[in-house]
Amino acid sequence: MRLILLGPPGAGKGTQAKRLEERYGIAQISTGDMLRAEVKSGSPIGLEAKAIMERGDLVPDAIITAMLALRVQKPDCVNGFILDGFPRTVPQAEALDTMLRQQRMDLDHVIELKVDDAALVERIAGRFTCAKCGEGYHDSFKKPAKAGVCDACGSTDFVRRADDKAETVAARLEAYHRQTAPLLPFYGAQGKLKQVDGMAEMDEVTRQLQAILGPPPTKA
Ligand code: AMP
Repeated sequence: MRLILLGPPGAGKGTQAKRLEERYGIAQISTGDMLRAEVKSGSPIGLEAKAIMERGDLVPDAIITAMLALRVQKPDCVNGFILDGFPRTVPQAEALDTMLRQQRMDLDHVIELKVDDAALVERIAGRFTCAKCGEGYHDSFKKPAKAGVCDACGSTDFVRRADDKAETVAARLEAYHRQTAPLLPFYGAQGKLKQVDGMAEMDEVTRQLQAILGPPPTKA
């Protein structure tokens, strides 16, 4: 199964993609995570992307599509993938269509997580993750059960994204509305677009996603 999760920053794409990865045995592909790894390693892509990401702008399409083309060929994508944060522009969506056509693959679902802009700044500005296992938390909505200790792995190291500052969030939302929102009519015209209520509780969003995707395979 191959699907795209669409929605503005803070809509919950990453959280839901991780859940679907686990339940359906398909790979979560987050271009944002891939770029952050490039920045951390100081690679040429990372050096180019760092300042762009800190401004809240989009990294050039050519860099992203080349990165994605390599990623979808990795063995963990054999059962399919969930694209989280890609495509973000119409040219990226067109490149993806071409890439899939060449490999005789199809997209099964494009799902928009619909959220109010007003909620996003608060959602984004309060989020942090475990530096060791990547479990996501939030200052107001999802604190670790024991303050300062990761529920999932017990680590006491947490990180906040450099671009989750309130100033940068405004630029990221602007980039979403200007460059990414045109993907909604793009996929609408292909008859692929479905929507879920991204303002609902996390478990309810997962339930709505599963209602679209069908029941997850049972584990052996
Ligand atoms: P994300 O983690 O998806 O919110 O992405 C963080 C940042 O990485 C974005 O604000 C962009 O600067 C960059 N980025 C991630 N994915 C893409 C993409 N598909 N196209 C362009 N820039 C991207």
